[in-house]
Amino acid sequence: MNAHDSDRMEEALRADGWARAESADDADLIVLNTCSVREKAEQKLRSEVGKLAPLKLRNPGLVLAVAGCVAQQEGEKLLARVSYLDLLIGPDNIADLPRLAREQRDGAPPRAHTVFDLDAPQFLAAAPAAGDIPVSAWVTTMKGCDERCSFCIVPYTRGPERYRPASEIIAEIERWVAGGSREVTLLGQTVDSYRDASLPPPASDDPDESQFPSLLRAIASRIPGLTRLRYTSPHPRHATAELARAHAELDVLAKHVHMPVQSGSDRILKRMIRRYTRVEYTERMQRLKASRPGLTLSTDVIVGFPGETDADFEATLDLVKDVGFTGLYGFKYSPRPFTPALKLANDVPESVKSERLARLFALAESQTRAHLDSLVGTSQRVLVEGASKVNGKVTGRTERNEIVHLDIPAERELVGALVDVEIAQAFKHSLHGVLDAATIAALPLRLPGAARPERRRRVLPILS
Ligand code: SF4
Repeated sequence: MNAHDSDRMEEALRADGWARAESADDADLIVLNTCSVREKAEQKLRSEVGKLAPLKLRNPGLVLAVAGCVAQQEGEKLLARVSYLDLLIGPDNIADLPRLAREQRDGAPPRAHTVFDLDAPQFLAAAPAAGDIPVSAWVTTMKGCDERCSFCIVPYTRGPERYRPASEIIAEIERWVAGGSREVTLLGQTVDSYRDASLPPPASDDPDESQFPSLLRAIASRIPGLTRLRYTSPHPRHATAELARAHAELDVLAKHVHMPVQSGSDRILKRMIRRYTRVEYTERMQRLKASRPGLTLSTDVIVGFPGETDADFEATLDLVKDVGFTGLYGFKYSPRPFTPALKLANDVPESVKSERLARLFALAESQTRAHLDSLVGTSQRVLVEGASKVNGKVTGRTERNEIVHLDIPAERELVGALVDVEIAQAFKHSLHGVLDAATIAALPLRLPGAARPERRRRVLPILS
């Protein structure tokens, strides 16, 4: 979400006449976009801001801005603490950034602008520069969150749920696809709680039933040129039978879902205010898997939540095995301001959190590795996204989201292509695939001297 917001900030500034500087030393404006979901991210901000102090001393005209959730959370307090900061803007105020940056450049006093747009929610349409169309684009569907997970600061920094009209979402996807994007990831804090009166109503009166499946169906029917559709991050509460039906019926939906679970212990899930039990989560994931042969699941887990015993943690490990996740992001619990969990004693020692996280990662990595090994020798359809970090290779993803590195001759272009490859080797987190000679010969030739586009950043799901 933050990476997506950063793109919108850059576009808004570019439309106002700003241009990207070669380096921080050349900049007239520096915007640090921040995340406060974990304490570590906040510490990082403090260190980054500290590094910018000498620049500000050398160039007093430099405008230093902090955007995002830390700006929203700290507001005026941060301005008071860091005397050389000029501007703070919240996640809902991106459209105001160019005007406020200009005012600061013209000598206005330091300012914090962190207002939620509750009455008239704004969703900035993507406006990429010509030639900057990623193979895989992100499209925002909503902002804020109405859940109150006891560890999470997001409802305080991003406000209540507000939904982008389906017509705007569809129009933006149409523009990406017309520009050359082949895959779209729908973004929202609880993306599957989506509602819009213009869509067919929820399939039942169940309060967990949303109109997200209707949105998926509308996108699939209106944009036949879209190759793959993903979404992140859903909340398990809304993983209803109707969502599973959408996965069964819509070929465009990727065969992978990232569904944060956070814990496998009912006692801890209750303390986290997640509003589902372990059995409910497991049944919903089985239903999703059954909807589409080969569908894989990944998840987020927090270890060391207040009161987590060895038995609670063992229940989490059991759940990871039972569901058979092929990917997992694990985090140590860290207390966040304003959250209900602050009232609980942070009673799991740091050393225990570290030991649990290491055990969780060891289990998850063994499952990931076993899954990747099982793909060796199979044929997989890969959407090629760009140049790999490994020299001379290109990187793409399978329908399920496995990363595949490919060797292709330097004179051939492959970015944006959907190709069938034979999986030759599995690594810890990725695969090596091989194209047959006929496929390579059919690829277009690259223009002499043209650089191969880099693979664009992708969303790292954190919490939902
Ligand atoms: S963890 Fe996700 S669902 Fe829970 S409050 Fe945070 S953003 Fe909302």
